[in-house]
Amino acid sequence: MSQMSPTLERLVDQIAKLPGLGKKSALRLAMHILKQSESDARALAEAIVQVKMRLHMCARCGNLTEVELCSICSDAKRDGGLLCIVESPQDILRLEKATAFRGIYHVLGGVLSPLDGVGPEALRMADLWNRTEHEKFREVILGA
Ligand SMILES: [Zn+2]
Repeated sequence: MSQMSPTLERLVDQIAKLPGLGKKSALRLAMHILKQSESDARALAEAIVQVKMRLHMCARCGNLTEVELCSICSDAKRDGGLLCIVESPQDILRLEKATAFRGIYHVLGGVLSPLDGVGPEALRMADLWNRTEHEKFREVILGA
């Protein structure tokens, strides 16, 4: 890959930082982007920047949202007495697609792993205790 132009090499290096992509796959994607129209390439770059600028954690549950409360927390038809604890926002997407769950969620933001130094304080545990004090949950389940 030493004959690669510095500009192409920079793109390949950035893509290769993504999980599950080695240099070879990164080069394939970079070549694909190179063949795309300039407007498609700009749309991709802009989508990446926008997702970083606009998405943040829901103030209540930790889901991803562009506003203060996510679409689930702000949905009055959801059962606020039924809480499902999940590891990540992807779990919410998966459960919403695969189940008929009508309660609300709490995202921990990882798994407890004392050997890797991930203690309760690294997760959104304090927020969870806070919520169990202030919100009246009938039932709390784990959405693993
Ligand atoms: Zn939320």
